[in-house]
Amino acid sequence: MTSGRKAPRRLSIFGSTGSIGQNTLDVVQQLGGRENYEILAVTGNDNVDLLAEQAKSVGARLAVTANAERYDALKAALAGSGITPAAGVSGLAEAADMDADWVMASIVGTAGLQPTLSAARMGATIALANKECLVSAGDLFVDAVRKGGGQLIPVDSEHSAIFQSLDEDQRHAVERIILTASGGPFRTWSRAEMANVTAAVARAHPNWSMGLKISIGSASMFNKALEMIEAKHLFDIRPDQIEVIVHPQSVIHSMVGYTDGSVIAQLGSPDMRTAIGYALEYPQRPALNVERLDFARLSRLDFEAPDEQRFPALRLARVALERGGLQGAIMNAAEEVAFHAFVEERIGFLEMADIAEAVMDLMISTGAASSMDDVFAADAEARHRATELVATRDKAA
Ligand code: NAD
Ligand code: MG
Repeated sequence: MTSGRKAPRRLSIFGSTGSIGQNTLDVVQQLGGRENYEILAVTGNDNVDLLAEQAKSVGARLAVTANAERYDALKAALAGSGITPAAGVSGLAEAADMDADWVMASIVGTAGLQPTLSAARMGATIALANKECLVSAGDLFVDAVRKGGGQLIPVDSEHSAIFQSLDEDQRHAVERIILTASGGPFRTWSRAEMANVTAAVARAHPNWSMGLKISIGSASMFNKALEMIEAKHLFDIRPDQIEVIVHPQSVIHSMVGYTDGSVIAQLGSPDMRTAIGYALEYPQRPALNVERLDFARLSRLDFEAPDEQRFPALRLARVALERGGLQGAIMNAAEEVAFHAFVEERIGFLEMADIAEAVMDLMISTGAASSMDDVFAADAEARHRATELVATRDKAA
């Protein structure tokens, strides 16, 4: 290594059993595994067999299942390994307290906020896949990382692309950032066609292989809505500087436009391991075995304006950005409830955005957050109100 920065040696992976978590372990393995990194903690939820297998293969010190009811099963799966099992909120807190140099924050949803925040306060560099942390807690989360003394490095492919394309010395010359969106499986569908789709249909993403929540969020473009708010907090820019462009091939991961008319983009195969490796070895670029772009075979890149009529989530993100305060936390919490209701076939696909919008409007007078307690309170109230709205629409009841 030529830079003065030491590679992060002590890692924890929150959400190791998920799509990002598994890709992170693959990157760690590709970059030397145990020879170069010490894994402190891995965490998962229901799938304790995979969690135990991961913990053993990387020699983790602690393995945590967020589901306290799975503790005994985890303990049994780890028997004789010397790896400490833990469970529930206290188990996640234990993992966050281990003083890692680098933490992959890849728990899905708001469940990731508390452990990631704790790790940030301990001073870990946070590789952030869990965009919900920034959407909910916004600048409070950024401040926590800064005060902890660590760094916040985006893992979301769009934000990694912007991070890589943003010339910090020329911040004054940044005019806009352009988030690319694949458009998801329903890019060309009418609202009538989307009205009756099931989760099984909605989760089939054309380019990326991902967890359930983000796959559904790609279909509704709610994921892009979260990413707009994520970008605002990560890059400290005004909402009117954030653009979205639909780019079905997912080759350009996002772009930064400058005052001289230049646009700098980051391109690559749709493989999260590039962004994960970049976050792990930053500012170095690691050598990774991922598919290389073959431009002759690609032959073309397409672009379309996003359609906020068919994908109202994009409009809701603008509303949340304009209103500011806790509207991001409220939108995120309400949509998380609506997402679960959709997966359980209690509401339809289009109703997810309806519920998020209704809860945002009901809570429009909620003030700004002065502490994390305000964030948790707004999150809880939005969940409560969304749950009530789901009940009035429930198809299964
Ligand atoms: P996933 O569903 O595949 O994995 C989620 C992980 O969180 C699993 O380890 C699961 O056990 C754990 N988990 C689930 N519920 C939990 C709870 N209540 N408490 C604690 N842990 C819990 O999700 P994913 O696709 O890997 O996404 C993880 C995060 O990364 C999300 O915030 C997502 O938006 C973001 N992200 C994912 C991708 C991708 O390609 N998958 C890309 C960009 C950003
Ligand atoms: Mg993304």
